[in-house]
Amino acid sequence: MAVKEQRVNFRVEVEIIPESARWSSTPRTERQSYDAANELAATTRRRLDGDECGTISVNSDLERTCEFCGRKWTEDSETYNGGCCNVDEDTEEAREAAAIVAKESV
Ligand SMILES: [Zn+2]
Repeated sequence: MAVKEQRVNFRVEVEIIPESARWSSTPRTERQSYDAANELAATTRRRLDGDECGTISVNSDLERTCEFCGRKWTEDSETYNGGCCNVDEDTEEAREAAAIVAKESV
């Protein structure tokens, strides 16, 4: 028996204009990006009505970043990103100090 390969699940992926290609200097909010994607999906659905169009769905990727410096979140912790910036480090030290005080007062 030999491996048989074939391409399946053919699809066309359409993305909204990326931030880097937009004329506006104000980045879209998450909600504005969601709305733009839904508007593009609706427009695409209308224009492809009757063509070889199966489903059109809006999908996105979840990006995890530090709320203070914007760097990629690399840790399992939900509150400490390994000291990616001074604020991350300072807030972790404050949490640790508070935990010690709470433990000592028990
Ligand atoms: Zn950070």
